[in-house]
Amino acid sequence: MVASPAARPDAIRRHNLALVLGHIHRDGALTRAELTQRLRVSRSTMGALVADLLELGLVGEVVPNGGSSVGRPSHVVGPHDRGPYVVAVDIDVTHVVTAAIGLGGDVLARQLVPTGPAASEPETAARIVVESVERVSRATGRSAPPLTVGVSVPGTVDLESGHIAVAPNLEWHDIAFGALLTDALPEHTRVRIGNDADLAVFAEHLRGAARGFDDVVYLLGRTGVGAGIVVDGRPLRGYDGYAGEIGHNVIDSSGPPCHCGKHGCTETYIGEGALLARAGRPLPPTDEAVSRFFTDARSGDASAVGAVRDVAEPLGRTIGTLVNTLNPQRVLLGGTLSHMLDLARPEIEAAVSHYAVETPGRSVELIQPAFGTDSPLLGAAELAFADLLSDPLIAGG
Ligand SMILES: [Zn+2]
Repeated sequence: MVASPAARPDAIRRHNLALVLGHIHRDGALTRAELTQRLRVSRSTMGALVADLLELGLVGEVVPNGGSSVGRPSHVVGPHDRGPYVVAVDIDVTHVVTAAIGLGGDVLARQLVPTGPAASEPETAARIVVESVERVSRATGRSAPPLTVGVSVPGTVDLESGHIAVAPNLEWHDIAFGALLTDALPEHTRVRIGNDADLAVFAEHLRGAARGFDDVVYLLGRTGVGAGIVVDGRPLRGYDGYAGEIGHNVIDSSGPPCHCGKHGCTETYIGEGALLARAGRPLPPTDEAVSRFFTDARSGDASAVGAVRDVAEPLGRTIGTLVNTLNPQRVLLGGTLSHMLDLARPEIEAAVSHYAVETPGRSVELIQPAFGTDSPLLGAAELAFADLLSDPLIAGG
């Protein structure tokens, strides 16, 4: 929505600059004509907005040649190829993935540091993050430091301070991780931290498989299991930010022990450990062991195929509970659950139908994320870009 004329001129300008940059960030290069149409402003207003963004070093513009037919070709405006970038970090039990990401979502450089299988201490994770941020920043070939470092963690996070109340599988409790990282990174580096499933649904809702859908759940399965939830187009976080911690809903209190201290939590039935355990494979899970498990399941290995079938039922039941609680239009299955959908869709759908109360003739759509295992990482990048996208003038200092 273009700002109303009643607003102050500088507020209108900031608002419209944010709109233009948002379109270019989400959709890539667009012609001035397309931008003019999308914002419903005059050509001269768009000219002035693009000039501002060019001056801020946020966009670049090319004039397509070969337009010998009628009329002048419209200039194409896209993310500046030497513009600002953020560094996104995805911390999980088994790895730390770090990527430098430019406006428009281009991954400029990335690296993976395997960790685990034992949980890392917060100080160790912070050290890996600091070294990785330095390395991927250097690999961009850009002299400027990252605008912001956005971090995804498998735990409950205070978005303002980056304080982690609990990350059960990392065995972190009451950790001031935001402060720890801010102290360890170069001075003036901004840090934003979010929950992995929340960030995954954020990325997919903004620019992936959930775009245009206002009631969506992203069920993320890794060592742990969590849900990122969008209701009426808005993220559902809950009073303390715990909404979506469904991995710790108890299915059977006489079930296997969980990292959270309880027994029989959902993630002990559908997390990576459950798959490997049912196939008789060693625990705790590593990235390599999980990847080998799914390769074996695809090639028909009996124990792996059996484990996938066993896990399909509690997975479908978990989705059924989400459907009954939230009535989403789409449920995205990410992480290892994405492989599960590939291998056992009929079994999962049968269990969902059994447990969910649904409108006759309309079932919830189970789909794979557009960004594969990168949804939390790209969500962390979006979190890191949020300040710039809401006020592009901050790029001018
Ligand atoms: Zn638990």
